[in-house]
Amino acid sequence: MPGLINAHMHSNESFECGAYDNLPLDLWLLQSYSPLGSPIRSEREHYLRTMACAIRSIRSGVTTVQDDLVYPPSTADAVDMAMSAYRDAGLRAWVTVDMWNLPFMECFPFLDGIMPDHLQEELNRLPNLSIAEYESLFEAHFTNWHEHDGRLRLVLAPCGPQRCSEELLRAIGRLSEKYDVPIHSHTLETRLQAIHAKLQHNCTWVEYFEELGLLGPRTTLVHGIWLTQSDIELLADRDCSVVHNPLSNLKLGSGVAPVRQLLDAGVNVALGTDGMATSDTADLVEAIRVASLIHKVADPDYEHWVSAEEVFDIATRGGARSGLMESEVGALEEGMRADIILLDASDWGFTPSTNPVQQLAFSASSAAVKTSIINGRIVMLDGRVLSIDEDAVKAEIREAAERFWRDDVPAMRAGAARLEPYLDAMYQRGLEEDFELSGER
Ligand SMILES: [Zn+2]
Repeated sequence: MPGLINAHMHSNESFECGAYDNLPLDLWLLQSYSPLGSPIRSEREHYLRTMACAIRSIRSGVTTVQDDLVYPPSTADAVDMAMSAYRDAGLRAWVTVDMWNLPFMECFPFLDGIMPDHLQEELNRLPNLSIAEYESLFEAHFTNWHEHDGRLRLVLAPCGPQRCSEELLRAIGRLSEKYDVPIHSHTLETRLQAIHAKLQHNCTWVEYFEELGLLGPRTTLVHGIWLTQSDIELLADRDCSVVHNPLSNLKLGSGVAPVRQLLDAGVNVALGTDGMATSDTADLVEAIRVASLIHKVADPDYEHWVSAEEVFDIATRGGARSGLMESEVGALEEGMRADIILLDASDWGFTPSTNPVQQLAFSASSAAVKTSIINGRIVMLDGRVLSIDEDAVKAEIREAAERFWRDDVPAMRAGAARLEPYLDAMYQRGLEEDFELSGER
């Protein structure tokens, strides 16, 4: 088979897989990305977090990841360490330089009347980079890593439109055009974000991007659950992509993305696992299964259901298109890069053999993936990862993660606890807000 393309994940979360439950996005973010009390991580820790994800990806048949690396902006070495891990693991990786510059208080609706003044002042003092610093950071990484080894690429990631100033978004648009690299942005993941756009700009986030000239073939919106029908038509018209992340959307209670409507409108859809602390996996076969099932309960009309065949297409070609690599990866065709996986046809999931694509979605697991060839190099053979010493690196990952939970997490928890009552009040306030998506979908 062609290798699978995980079009959205966060390798930086990999020490926290399985650590959280029953939290909606903003309250989960407070735990995993506490703005108060988060430690500066060592270079080696960055490397190991990404390596954990890289190995799980290879083992599950993923040959390309689009890694949306979210780190505190002060640690400029994070991209270098992630790229080094992907270089060593042998995976194809498109890594983001993540950017946001609005103060915490402005990233959410309703908080102004809820957060006490002394905490507002503390949050407003958190350091961030200037637009010029973000630009030079991206350019330095682009020079060092873009096209390295024929496998590594850079992506621009405005973390979410609600977290970036208009000037930063315009600067990202200019960089994308200048260097011909994709733009990758979390957009309309939650109902609260849809409300925020309406309150802040009296339009949707998609219309806001359009106003800033950011919608085009290089732009991918991540999630896109709370899109209106006219947003979907605009995305189709501008040739944008949307990454579907059903695992994390379920875990955080965010909703079900309108994948049928997106496909019908002609929008390119890609598939992602999302982060290791929300989906808790880098295994795209699990996302293929859930994506092949969930749309059957989202609409009673079975003619609208999304098929396993369609999901397989978005998990390969759709991902390639999102990373602007559709002529190079995502299919087994002459002239494409050799990103190929071999599955064991005698695995119980394929026994007896009926329909391999449907069996991959409904019957088999990624344990059937035995061999992986990436960019023409055999990275895993008969279930053994060849590119790195897996046992040694696994032992080091376990040790570093233990240290993180013992030494760093207590301060993060304490920081999160100080803000939690106010974020919870904001969430409840959002639930009370009278809001419906406009237009038929
Ligand atoms: Zn994400």
